[in-house]
Amino acid sequence: MSERVIPLVDHRMRTLTAPLPAQAVPATGWLSDGLGRPLRDLRISVTDRCNFRCSYCMPKSVFDNDYAYLPHSALLSFEEITRVARSFVAHGVQKIRLTGGEPLLRKHIEVLIAQLAALRTPEGRPLDLTLTTNGSLLRKKAKALKDAGLHRVTVSLDGLDDATFRAMNDVDFPVADVLDGLEAAREVGLGAPVNGGPSGLKINMVVKRGTNDDQILPMARHFRGSGTVLRFIEYMDVGATNGWRMDEVLPSAEVVQRIHAELPLVQLDPSAPGETAERWGYVGANGQHDPALGEIGVISSVTQAFCGDCNRARLSTEGKLYLCLFATEGHDLRSLIRGTPAPDGSLHAPASEAELASAIGAIWQGRTDRYSQLRASLPPDVSVGTGKRVEMSYIGG
Ligand code: SAM
Ligand code: SF4
Ligand code: SF4
Repeated sequence: MSERVIPLVDHRMRTLTAPLPAQAVPATGWLSDGLGRPLRDLRISVTDRCNFRCSYCMPKSVFDNDYAYLPHSALLSFEEITRVARSFVAHGVQKIRLTGGEPLLRKHIEVLIAQLAALRTPEGRPLDLTLTTNGSLLRKKAKALKDAGLHRVTVSLDGLDDATFRAMNDVDFPVADVLDGLEAAREVGLGAPVNGGPSGLKINMVVKRGTNDDQILPMARHFRGSGTVLRFIEYMDVGATNGWRMDEVLPSAEVVQRIHAELPLVQLDPSAPGETAERWGYVGANGQHDPALGEIGVISSVTQAFCGDCNRARLSTEGKLYLCLFATEGHDLRSLIRGTPAPDGSLHAPASEAELASAIGAIWQGRTDRYSQLRASLPPDVSVGTGKRVEMSYIGG
């Protein structure tokens, strides 16, 4: 059957300017988009490079020796990232996640963490500061990260079977080294509960049917009662290079069923509005959730759209603001803060703090993105949009 395409967008990887709006949008700590969704969560990609080649993210066939990564001059400096982040925080962002590529490959990342850890919300509270990593460099970096003020960490791990894991990262990286990195994170205190909630350590496992779904139960058994929250992510059609197929998606409902059949689960309340993961707790001897056994999370990005309360913005490695994981275009904040020519050739002086806040505010106010919802409303053989979607390694997960 040939795939039909409904052209909801008709541009390709365009860069949009971030114009200064005619009317100022001052930062008040509360900003609402075109669908009434607040801005609460900022994900910052600090590098587009990675030492893994997970086939669902950076397949070797595309990300080979000839791949043109961004030159260092294109990257936002730590000071630039912090400046942009400060503006987002003034608009209501409470949580910042550093990601990539592999964020621990960015040199002296702990310096950036220290700068971000010093930011305060308009109410004077510290941010919820976290980082997603493949864990390969955690043993080396965990202490510096913790000392710099990182609160918690999410480690991506797609299985416990060494052969399966080596095949998935496609660079023959052993699973034992990631588990050792996790241990290092625990030793330095990155696993401590944050604000009385569950552990600060989380594991992300992307599930691909036929590739690593046999790892669901071994992973559940391993992390049950360990103080680490294991989260299963549906394999998503992000980017344009991973050759995504619906028949390789294992719906979260099936993940829960498989685990529940051996290790009974009960559904838990969401921990925060806009939370992407549905929470399920392990049941103890009394038939109730036993906090000592912990919980799992399932992120059903494909089978259950959660656009309705999506409060996440993404800042790319080179300073473009993306309003959706599936966006085809980003708003160029770098030209704005550097005062260099914008994509449309226009030139302006480096933006002041108020101007930067206004530009970010106006962009968020104009946001109507809801890719997953649109896709869910279409038949399975129809794609949303024709634009070339941005890669996950470039804007981060
Ligand atoms: N390199 C770091 C890591 O792997 O944790 C951070 C960047 S990675 C892009 C962030 C998250 O996106 C990871 O947990 C990864 O498993 C997830 N991811 C990447 N491609 C995906 C896909 N096609 N579907 C679902 N999750 C994906
Ligand atoms: Fe690298 Fe993370 Fe993408 Fe894997 S998921 S290729 S570790 S950026
Ligand atoms: Fe948010 Fe876009 Fe994902 Fe919807 S598809 S939840 S708008 S990132």
